[in-house]
Amino acid sequence: MERIALFPGSFDPFTLGHLAVAERGLEMFDRLVVGIGVNASKQGLVAPERRAELIREVFEGEERVEVVLYEGLTGDLCRRRSIKHILRGLRNSTDFEYERDMEMANALIYPEITTVAVFTPSEYISVSSRLVRELITMGGDPAKFLPRGIDIKKYLQ
Ligand code: ADP
Repeated sequence: MERIALFPGSFDPFTLGHLAVAERGLEMFDRLVVGIGVNASKQGLVAPERRAELIREVFEGEERVEVVLYEGLTGDLCRRRSIKHILRGLRNSTDFEYERDMEMANALIYPEITTVAVFTPSEYISVSSRLVRELITMGGDPAKFLPRGIDIKKYLQ
């Protein structure tokens, strides 16, 4: 049976930290579905459809990665797609506390789903979408924190 994991997040935008998590996921699973959670009341910096395009550019040629937009609960998306694993990344104890609470809630509602969390490589611990958004808003260049070759300006219109 094919092993598929859902890697859910806001990915506003997708960073080198996310890429490190996804790459580890690809070592463990046959296929990865990157799910961009869309919250109608939260606009974000990069439009959701453009976030998807950026991630598709990062994984161009990698047929094991699929990018989808979704609304509502992550567990419901897993059920619709018969996905049994959720992949998440851990940078620090704040991430850990949050992920543990989410996992506990999910385990009660969706007992068939297992959450797998991977540690971020130390060089990416300080990388976050928020940092990248702040840099962009202040007119800085976030290229160092983004996957190689990504020109964020392309995705900001
Ligand atoms: P969310 O809003 O669901 O936290 P994010 O897009 O911020 O969505 O993050 C998606 C996942 O990637 C989360 O599990 C988060 O902890 C992880 N992540 C974000 N940045 C990093 C990083 N630099 N290193 C490792 N994991 C990260």
